[in-house]
Amino acid sequence: MGAGVIGLTTAFALVQRGHSVTIFDPFPGRGASFVAAGMIAPMTEASHGEDSLIALSLEAARRWPAHAESIESQSSYRVGLNRAGTLLVALDANDRAEVRSMLPLYETLGLSATWHAGGSVREIEPLLAAGVRGGIEAPDDIQVDNRRLLSSLADVLTRAGVSIVRERVVAVLSNGTRVTGVATTSQRHVASTVILCTGYDLAGIEGIPVHDEIVMRPVKGQILRLFQGDPRLRLRYSVRAIVAGSSIYLVPRSSGKVVVGATVEEQGVSYSTTAGAAYSLLRDAINVVPAIAEAEIEGFEVGLRPATRDNEPVIGASSLEGLSYALGGYRHGVLLSPVVADCIVELVELGAVPEIAWPFSPERFRVHHG
Ligand SMILES: Cc1cc2nc3c(=O)[nH]c(=O)nc-3n(C[C@H](O)[C@H](O)[C@H](O)COP(=O)(O)OP(=O)(O)OC[C@H]3O[C@@H](n4cnc5c(N)ncnc54)[C@H](O)[C@@H]3O)c2cc1C
Repeated sequence: MGAGVIGLTTAFALVQRGHSVTIFDPFPGRGASFVAAGMIAPMTEASHGEDSLIALSLEAARRWPAHAESIESQSSYRVGLNRAGTLLVALDANDRAEVRSMLPLYETLGLSATWHAGGSVREIEPLLAAGVRGGIEAPDDIQVDNRRLLSSLADVLTRAGVSIVRERVVAVLSNGTRVTGVATTSQRHVASTVILCTGYDLAGIEGIPVHDEIVMRPVKGQILRLFQGDPRLRLRYSVRAIVAGSSIYLVPRSSGKVVVGATVEEQGVSYSTTAGAAYSLLRDAINVVPAIAEAEIEGFEVGLRPATRDNEPVIGASSLEGLSYALGGYRHGVLLSPVVADCIVELVELGAVPEIAWPFSPERFRVHHG
């Protein structure tokens, strides 16, 4: 259920192993996965105290190159993996201290992170503003063109004979102890295994075990899509910056497109784009990379990140036999997709997820009676 990056990648992984898959989604490939920036950035997304998530992210990033090749070998589209690396830069002295404070964590994790002072960071990315006070080069934080990725996955799955049914699932069917299929408003579909990959949205789906207490919330992200026509003004690196305490990123595509994001807002289900968000994203982006002022605005969009109560993913079996959860990608769903998919394949085939996914078990939310 759900044809975002998690559902499509899980279907892809299952099909590679010879399983028969049907996907249900009223708007395939149009959820958060379509709006995302596509960063595969385990290092610059890492935060202190998130050891299990960092381990999962690093494992996912390690799998990405082979994963991208595997999709491309079966698709007529490229996924647009760009291995140019990321610069995490700072504008004022406080921002510089914040950026530098991440270095010990990166070093502890054994990641390749090099500090460059102001002048030398502009030598590797000349489009950075003169005011940039230095930054960390993260060569292993790369990016994928998420829209191309979704098209490639859909293409491979269609060629493999997977049907993508454009209908909303309204119920998970069971005989009381195990799953028997799913229902939409127009049909019932028999299945021995059902995988829930519906992003933030569990509303209106009957039959999900209530005592599993899986509560999802949408975390709104406003994001700009720009086009830099002049090739001399195109960034080589993805640039992440701390500007007066707020974070911003600029992710260039080879086509000249640049993604500038993103807000992180607790607003429930809201798709409105606001003047204030556009202003602050553009102001900070232009402060860091002045040439952005010349770029054309192609789009200003909203995506709803799927977040659990503790903001970490839920990967594993539900209390209803045959029903599994692959939810809660939050800010990292594109990055995590290959490893989440492999964990679900292992669950389907061997009855348990691998150790790396144990911290993300649905058990942590489950209410036990008696
Ligand atoms: C602005 C922004 C920037 C981001 N940048 C990055 C990034 O750089 N790197 C990164 O790794 N992550 C990023 N993310 C996070 C990432 O986009 C998400 O974690 C990821 O897309 C979640 O994928 P998903 O498949 O779980 O959900 P979605 O992509 O939201 O897909 C869920 C699908 O389920 C379908 N669905 C819902 N209900 C039903 C139902 N009842 N029946 C059938 N289908 C249903 C929906 O139609 C939808 O297509 C970003 C997110 C946002 C908003």
